[in-house]
Amino acid sequence: MKILIATANAHKVGEIREILADFPIELCDLRDFPPVAAPDETGLTYAENALLKARFYAAHTGLPALSDDSGLEVDALDGAPGLYSARFGGEDMPHSQKILRVLDLLQQQPERPRSARFRCCCVLLDPNTGQVWTEEATCEGTIASAPSGEQGFGYDPIFLVDPVRSMADLSASEKHAISHRGQALRGLLGQLYPHLSTARA
Ligand code: IMP
Repeated sequence: MKILIATANAHKVGEIREILADFPIELCDLRDFPPVAAPDETGLTYAENALLKARFYAAHTGLPALSDDSGLEVDALDGAPGLYSARFGGEDMPHSQKILRVLDLLQQQPERPRSARFRCCCVLLDPNTGQVWTEEATCEGTIASAPSGEQGFGYDPIFLVDPVRSMADLSASEKHAISHRGQALRGLLGQLYPHLSTARA
């Protein structure tokens, strides 16, 4: 089965390829097709945005499209940046600054807990049959007082997965074993290939 990785985010493309490396599917990505402007993410949930992106890129390429909508939810910020993680502080603001913005907001309310989670919804849409598979997963953690680590991307340097290590301190395979994206993709592929799900979990 040939599947399009339906995201323009190069970090997500890399992670999705790594997570799905052992599955019996052929992957391609948007670099294999004529450029197209990304759709506006107008959904009010991760699932709506993921479906919107899968539909858009499946129509663009004619291929089954696998999309990912994800974000960081910080409890002390009432779930922000959440669905708007990529746009937090403006789409052009680098994540190094988005991170400082999160830390700054948390510093203003030191009495509140620093619990947080990454959430990811993955959708696979087959344009030939209209069939849609959806899987959502979370990864729980806490927000560090300062960034650390060089791996991963986005908010990984401030997301503590245990008392000392941030997501950006983990190797790629350590991240994928516990991450929101790793869990959601394995769950989704488990729906497609039930006989593989226990072997690959
Ligand atoms: P989306 O492209 O609208 O789904 O936005 C995803 C955004 O959520 C990214 O740009 C990051 O800000 C954040 N995010 C999602 N997954 C991760 C992750 O694995 N590590 C760090 N940040 C992430």
